[in-house]
Amino acid sequence: MAERVFIGFGSNVGRHYANCTRSISEVLSDRRASLKALSSLYCTSPVSSIPQPDFLNGAFTIEWGDSATKLLSLLKQIEKRMGRREGVRNGPRIIDLDILLFGRAVIRSPDLIVPHPRLHERRFALIPCLEIDPFLVHPVFHKRLEEFLDSIDEEQKVSRFCPVREEDVLPAFQELSHIPICSSRVEAP
Ligand code: ADP
Ligand code: MG
Repeated sequence: MAERVFIGFGSNVGRHYANCTRSISEVLSDRRASLKALSSLYCTSPVSSIPQPDFLNGAFTIEWGDSATKLLSLLKQIEKRMGRREGVRNGPRIIDLDILLFGRAVIRSPDLIVPHPRLHERRFALIPCLEIDPFLVHPVFHKRLEEFLDSIDEEQKVSRFCPVREEDVLPAFQELSHIPICSSRVEAP
């Protein structure tokens, strides 16, 4: 059965908008993925002690017809193809693609932890997910994602920057009409 998966993305090197839209397009050009919803883009302050530019972050949901491990390897391939190098932890990056939620699955393997282990600590990941689905529940803590926002340091600034233009992310052959993009609220759970 295809799982509803939340993927988080972010970029703070080079052309941030183009990097984000390219990474989404690359995921969608895989035949195992079909887009269900896409958040707005958010301008966010880095969660790091290393001085670096602000990020552009967002999230999208796909239906994914394969395992979580296969999805992680696709995301890593895309990061690599786009020029991501192993760098300092929490340092600047051309693109970061993370599996935030994989249905309600809980996975703990050496290479993959789902839900993403820092999802509940990061406003830049929580806010785009909540834009897509305000009723999301964390499969480990059994709390609504919204509830985590109050306990996170206000220093993590997240401001809505712009919507993603459909034509920048969707391969021409995909059917567009049913896909909720960049509305403030989409898809009931
Ligand atoms: P972060 O995204 O937290 O800033 P990195 O992008 O540097 O950190 O990820 C480092 C490693 O985290 C990856 O090589 C990957 O194997 C591992 N990882 C574990 N769980 C996940 C997940 N849910 N999504 C993406 N990567 C993950
Ligand atoms: Mg990552």
